[in-house]
Amino acid sequence: MIDFLASMLKVAKIPYTENEPLAPKSTFKVGGTARLFITPQTPEQLEAAISAARSAELPYFVTGGASNVVYPDGLYNGAIISTQSIKEIFYDPDETTPDGSVLVTCQCGVPMAAFVDFCTKKNLTGAEQFAGLPGTVGGAVYMNARCFDRSISDLLYSTSHIEYTGEKTKITELPFNAADWDYKKSPFQAHTAEDGSQTNQRYITQATFRLTPAGASAHDRIVADCKKYIAERVDKGHFKYPSAGSVFKNNHAFGAPSGKLIDDCGLKGLTAGGAQIAPFHGNFIINTGNATADNIRTLVKSAQKAVKDKFGFDLEPEIIFV
Ligand SMILES: Cc1cc2nc3c(=O)[nH]c(=O)nc-3n(C[C@H](O)[C@H](O)[C@H](O)COP(=O)(O)OP(=O)(O)OC[C@H]3O[C@@H](n4cnc5c(N)ncnc54)[C@H](O)[C@@H]3O)c2cc1C
Repeated sequence: MIDFLASMLKVAKIPYTENEPLAPKSTFKVGGTARLFITPQTPEQLEAAISAARSAELPYFVTGGASNVVYPDGLYNGAIISTQSIKEIFYDPDETTPDGSVLVTCQCGVPMAAFVDFCTKKNLTGAEQFAGLPGTVGGAVYMNARCFDRSISDLLYSTSHIEYTGEKTKITELPFNAADWDYKKSPFQAHTAEDGSQTNQRYITQATFRLTPAGASAHDRIVADCKKYIAERVDKGHFKYPSAGSVFKNNHAFGAPSGKLIDDCGLKGLTAGGAQIAPFHGNFIINTGNATADNIRTLVKSAQKAVKDKFGFDLEPEIIFV
């Protein structure tokens, strides 16, 4: 089946490599090899690659920057489909919404850093909090990433995605609807298909964001804000070690962030093989050199058990084990 998929990719001229090491491709620096690593160059190639993997009946996983995933140890006997080459940005300064916002459309593989830089150069305000967020627009929309009290959904105007329903594929544009979004929840996560089955089969091709034109006089302020948010991440140790950022979602109703609960259980510094609960941040697991996905899973379970035993609270993982 792998050969069948590879031959379909060749015919469609979609780039791929075989037996690709995954660890260097994720921010956690963890993982074995992918039998096929596919890099579609356009949304059409993304759709064709996913459809080909589905018709070959092989496991597949769509990633952006792989900054929130844990790739498996050993062989992933399927296809990892990376969106990182699908990265055009579209902007028409004359197109405004009734409230005076302008719209910036990013393809799914645009790095969040490139989106924030684009806004800064055009003196558009609203995306500053996302400066320093690793990963792509597609990943941030899927996760409804949240930085410094601002969620991606706060900026969204619309999204386009590939949708599989049974054997049919369609590209659908979804205007932003607040009811579909919540803290770290997006309509692209678990999704119920028309036949009633629970699927996760919507793949974001692009997202359109609403920004406020602030004029040249705001340029220095926008630059300074972006620098401030990045500096805060550096101070908190975000980039000291390979990681996938916060491991667990916060539950604000519970009254204490997940990192504090883990810290109160005395778990900072706990190790499993090459993985460690960061001594400087209870909600970060770091790779101190040779961590495996299994090591990370062990720490996730230890933290969940300790927090449940001490506080009766179920920690919900934010990182995704592929
Ligand atoms: C140092 C560090 C700091 C971080 N800080 C934050 C933070 O402040 N706030 C925060 O929210 N997160 C944070 N993160 C986590 C991570 O950066 C975000 O979740 C990011 O938005 C993930 O984007 P990605 O492109 O890397 O997604 P990936 O890790 O590649 O994928 C994440 C999920 O999105 C899905 N996905 C990706 N692209 C698509 C697509 N086109 N269509 C459908 N599904 C898709 C994948 O299948 C997967 O389920 C941090 C991570 C690190 C390493």
